[in-house]
Amino acid sequence: MLSARLRSLRAYETETSEARVRLSSNELPYDLPRELKRRIGEEAGRIPLHRYPDPTCGELKAVLADFFGVGEENLLLGNGSDELVYYLSVAVGELDQGVYIPVPTFPMYEISADVFGRPKVAVPLGEDFDIDLQESLRRLREEGAALAYFSYPNNPTGNLFSEEKIRALREEGLLTVVDEAYYHYSRKSFLEEALRREDTVVLRTLSKIGLAGLRVGVLIAREELVRELEKIRLPFNVSYPSQVIARLVLTEGRDFIEEAVERVVSERERLRRELSSIEGVEVFPSSANFLLFRTPFPAGELHAALLRRGVLVRNVSHLPRLERCLRVSVGREEENDLFLEALNSAVRELGG
Ligand SMILES: *Cc1c(COP(=O)(O)O)cnc(C)c1O
Repeated sequence: MLSARLRSLRAYETETSEARVRLSSNELPYDLPRELKRRIGEEAGRIPLHRYPDPTCGELKAVLADFFGVGEENLLLGNGSDELVYYLSVAVGELDQGVYIPVPTFPMYEISADVFGRPKVAVPLGEDFDIDLQESLRRLREEGAALAYFSYPNNPTGNLFSEEKIRALREEGLLTVVDEAYYHYSRKSFLEEALRREDTVVLRTLSKIGLAGLRVGVLIAREELVRELEKIRLPFNVSYPSQVIARLVLTEGRDFIEEAVERVVSERERLRRELSSIEGVEVFPSSANFLLFRTPFPAGELHAALLRRGVLVRNVSHLPRLERCLRVSVGREEENDLFLEALNSAVRELGG
């Protein structure tokens, strides 16, 4: 009774191995300060959980609008930006029109296209991990597409695609989604264009700045577009606790977030220097809170050797262009030290 399309799908799997040092999901490595946690407990205790939450997320939207410097009417909220990707993949163009995706990238874009049975125009990145413009244009003109996803910076490669190439592809008539999940680490944005143009949408999330557990994603676009997309949003998609806690943290915890992001950026640069000084390790530039690196060893073996030493990273070596590559999230200082120690020792073991 289930569709052939559903049968052909595979459930999303993420890394669940136990490890002392978990550097596999690009989360903020710092938990919220104790006083803020106490305030959350206080506020959460007052939530009337027998009631439905505000379906418009009014109070949270007001705080988010201020946080991102946009109008409330420009915001559509999701249960994480993952949900917003689903909404876009079902809403933009007709379902028989393609979705352009430069690969490798964040898996949700392809997954959502598959869920809705849309053709994918998946074009491999160039050697430099930037968009292959010529090949992309050729494929788009041959196959057609209505929607394009750009992870900016790109997960898992860490780089920012060339803005000019994104704009050139947009000229092919694509609704252009710029996923700025790592905006706080890159400080580069298409926000101004999303507020000005009907064909550009920006995604942001609270997941990479300390609130992954809350599941709050944000779509920023022109009001007309937001109003249309509102029609397919599930009525209570952001839970009562998420609305209350996100609002509280974004008002009383802003200094914490800012300082934590700064520490991660400075640790990223230290980690990059130290990684690149290990014999045989090639580390790629990153504008996000993770680093992609390549070694001479089979990635599966290195991943397992690190795990035996208590460190979990992400094996991305199965993806196009990423042979022998692993991705490591920037952790706290002591976690990064443990990772570097484990890597040095693993490399010695594998190097025999
Ligand atoms: C982590 C990540 C997200 C976050 O998704 P949420 O559902 O908001 O947690 C979105 N896009 C990219 C590219 C990411 O790496």
